[in-house]
Amino acid sequence: MVRPKKHLGQHFLTDKNIARNIVALVSGNPSSIVEIGAGTGILTTFLAEQFPDHLHIIEIDIESIVYLKLHFPSLENVIRHEDFLQSNLSAFPAPLTLIGNFPYNISSQIFFHVLDHKEYVAEVVCMIQKEVAERIAAKPGSKTYGILSVLLQAWYDIEYHFTVGEKVFNPPPKVKSAVIRLKRNTVEHLDCNEAMFTQVVKKGFNQRRKTLRNALREYLKPETTAHPFLDKRAEQLSINDFVLLTRLLFPQTLRP
Ligand code: SAH
Repeated sequence: MVRPKKHLGQHFLTDKNIARNIVALVSGNPSSIVEIGAGTGILTTFLAEQFPDHLHIIEIDIESIVYLKLHFPSLENVIRHEDFLQSNLSAFPAPLTLIGNFPYNISSQIFFHVLDHKEYVAEVVCMIQKEVAERIAAKPGSKTYGILSVLLQAWYDIEYHFTVGEKVFNPPPKVKSAVIRLKRNTVEHLDCNEAMFTQVVKKGFNQRRKTLRNALREYLKPETTAHPFLDKRAEQLSINDFVLLTRLLFPQTLRP
């Protein structure tokens, strides 16, 4: 057994049917399947059955690594003792599918790491906190629409699949969980400076109750202060609105 460690976000899933249903969401024909945080391997069992030749495991906990190598000897060479947030996803054959019951304490950071590697990551199938899943899937105008909703929806189609209660984990987390799937959309470039798009979205939402004129004050020039978007708050803008706004503020640099 592996003793669950709180600081690593370890809540081990105990329900095999849920594990099977999560693995069944892998679609298409990925060249690599990368499992984030395999723990004691409840998802790994189904993944190894279905994708024996394309599976890679990234796990930060040495106790889990020892356990996994013992119970999955055929995977010995593809189990990596590594921090996912430091991993270089271009090292795996693309396109790749990421899958995992994510460590909830770093789920947002995992998605930012995915965004940094979006040209390789075709799909993400994951269990996260229900509240984070709802935020990621949120549409403009809703209170939960935020940085990750805009940045992820710019590049991925988000599907909310099912909700999972606390009782099927050891130890049970304090919150409900949800399984979502992200599929890379067909967008190759945004029609604006992509690095500044990310900054505009982050700055806009960091002071989400202020108008964008206030939140983005440092980016404004005399000729740009009149645009009607600037009277709105970040949560009212669609992804395309943010693209237009970025172009308004940074017209000289259409491509990074
Ligand atoms: N997949 C297992 C475990 C989920 S708990 C199950 O469903 O039961 C989350 C797992 O992520 C733990 O095994 C934890 O050790 C691992 N983990 C936490 N932080 C990590 C990181 N930065 N990189 C890789 N794995 C991590």
